[in-house]
Amino acid sequence: MKIDLLVPGLPAKTDHFLFGICSLLLLRGEGRTVLFDTGPFRVRPILIEALNALGLTPADVDTVFMTHLHWDHVENLDLFAHAEIMTPKLEFDYAAAPLANDWGTPPYVREILQGMRVTLLPDEEQEIFPGVRTLLLPGHSVGLQGLVVDMGAERAVLASDALWSARDAVRGVPDVAFFNPGQAQASLDRALAAGDLFYPGHDRPFRIQNGAVTYTEQYHYHMSFPFQPHGQNLDVAFSTQHSGPCMEARR
Ligand SMILES: [Zn+2]
Repeated sequence: MKIDLLVPGLPAKTDHFLFGICSLLLLRGEGRTVLFDTGPFRVRPILIEALNALGLTPADVDTVFMTHLHWDHVENLDLFAHAEIMTPKLEFDYAAAPLANDWGTPPYVREILQGMRVTLLPDEEQEIFPGVRTLLLPGHSVGLQGLVVDMGAERAVLASDALWSARDAVRGVPDVAFFNPGQAQASLDRALAAGDLFYPGHDRPFRIQNGAVTYTEQYHYHMSFPFQPHGQNLDVAFSTQHSGPCMEARR
């Protein structure tokens, strides 16, 4: 299957909140058009634009693979109400009554799925399409599942939040392991051993060559903060184009 990056995940945090922009991918081949996670509502316009750029609309997506049911992955599910929705049974069962201190799983996520054609994935690995296998990666959430895609020359690991950013791979420690840290560590190790090309939950795709991370994409972001009612914006532009991120701020 061919993989297109629709929206690159963003590993951004503040001391107040996580940005929650996760990687959205499209897998095509074997007569299937599969969306991998749906993202938060705020990326809906760029998700639709990214599909349009491939000559598609949401109606062309016939399958949605939901890795887990955190808010930043599920909020555009309604665009794909016509599609088959695949999600781990453990996630679906847990979402009926999320723990009170679980800030990832909205207590209303089962209502979003109400009336949709949901296929619950068992807690075992399986080939769901030719060359596409599920990978059990619990720990970030109760039952997260990723995918391993056989690309011929290499294997792509679509790890979602079990591999939050490339830094997890460099440090060997999961960054966002809030459900079960022990399981999350084992899942990170498992994801990193499963292939060659990695698609993290909140970062750009990368390969690891001789211990060094090589990203396949660059970021160019511009942020504007109208902090002063009568003054100028605080504008921040940053790009990863050059070796390492470069940033310029203008007041
Ligand atoms: Zn998550």
